[in-house]
Amino acid sequence: MRRIAVIGAGQMGAGIAQVSAQAGMDVLLRDIDLARAEKGKAGIEKRLARAVENGKLEQADAQAALARITPVVALDDVAGCDLVIEAATEREDIKRAIFADVGAVLAPDAILATNTSSIPITRLAQAAPDAARFIGVHFFNPVPVMALVEVIRGLATSPETVQAVEAYAQALGKEVVHAFDAPGFIVNRILLPMLNEAIFALGEGVASVRDIDSAIKLGLNHPMGPLTLADFVGLDTCLEICKVLQDTTGDPKFRPAPLLVKYVEAGWLGRKTGRGFYDYAGDEPVPTR
Ligand code: NAD
Repeated sequence: MRRIAVIGAGQMGAGIAQVSAQAGMDVLLRDIDLARAEKGKAGIEKRLARAVENGKLEQADAQAALARITPVVALDDVAGCDLVIEAATEREDIKRAIFADVGAVLAPDAILATNTSSIPITRLAQAAPDAARFIGVHFFNPVPVMALVEVIRGLATSPETVQAVEAYAQALGKEVVHAFDAPGFIVNRILLPMLNEAIFALGEGVASVRDIDSAIKLGLNHPMGPLTLADFVGLDTCLEICKVLQDTTGDPKFRPAPLLVKYVEAGWLGRKTGRGFYDYAGDEPVPTR
């Protein structure tokens, strides 16, 4: 891949843009408006500067990567891209509208990929210009740090598309695992029931935020507790994934915890809004319950 576009400049889109630019690709970074796309690039600039300060990256390499990222709002430039990765808000209506817009300008041999956490690839492919060139490419947060990419093939995804996307992820230095299109793929199918159960336990008063997180961290040797991780993923994203898992499987074990719904209704979405199960206003996160 030489030239790619990333649609959605939030925490995931900006991360995907960063690692792609660091791997030498030209990247268009698009959001609803130019200010949001530019904000995504400004976040990348900060992260690259920190990596230089910490001696993990050469100044020249950081500058070169940054120069390869162009914030855009018009879709015309996407016409010249080999790969378009959609990393917008986890809502099917939003993603479908993006695929329709991108489909109008996408080159005939270009690939359209989605970073969705849970929406079925085969179903989303119906809104894409060509289901054979549509695929799931699921990165993990924070993208520059996490080694894994799940590549998810829908029913109609061609083997060539799978190979091309696997080669792209490997060019970024990522480990690839393959999954067929099933709700939650591999990681979220196993992770979300755990995060949701931690929120049930909190809502039922079983233990405090700190004790639930410490129990799982120290008792199971996880690098962080489930409530810390839920805040990190974004509580709105967690809720949407639970709903999709519940709707697509019909299995009530995926029903979202009432407290998760309440937090999202309150606009407490985790780190990205400064408050979730922890308050992020100070230097150290402070548990809220
Ligand atoms: P986010 O809220 O940080 O960013 C979403 C971005 O999409 C926002 O900047 C928003 O303005 C933009 N957007 C919304 N509609 C748009 C449109 N029509 N065109 C262009 N941009 C649009 O969310 P995120 O955490 O970056 O998640 C993005 C996607 O990645 C979701 O599908 C999510 O499920 C998936 N994902 C998230 C994680 C995670 O840990 N957060 C991990 C893997 C995958």
